[in-house]
Amino acid sequence: MEDKKLSLPKTIKVGPHTVTIKYVEVPDCSEPGEFIFGSWCIQDLEIQIREGLEPSLEWETFWHEVMECINEMTDADIPHHFIQTFGLLLAGITGGMKICECQGLGKTESTHLAAK
Ligand SMILES: [Zn+2]
Repeated sequence: MEDKKLSLPKTIKVGPHTVTIKYVEVPDCSEPGEFIFGSWCIQDLEIQIREGLEPSLEWETFWHEVMECINEMTDADIPHHFIQTFGLLLAGITGGMKICECQGLGKTESTHLAAK
């Protein structure tokens, strides 16, 4: 397993929708003085991730917001502690995977997950 930082994908597909993943200094939904790690906006089909997080926290935030996205798109009404739990577990599962077309790497290959 590589020990260098693996970057988040630039986009993901959720059903027919392409969701953009964007690094931001402070997520749009932050209130002044509030510190949040990420946000999901259905109107823009965009997940925002706070810049500069530790890699493990960045991946957990990514999966948390993917779960928020799925929850809203499906109107599943998943309790937030389940979203938190699955975000944590999915980050653990994907921790050893290489994801192509990653931000910062400039790759334009396929977007599939490839076991590493
Ligand atoms: Zn949440």
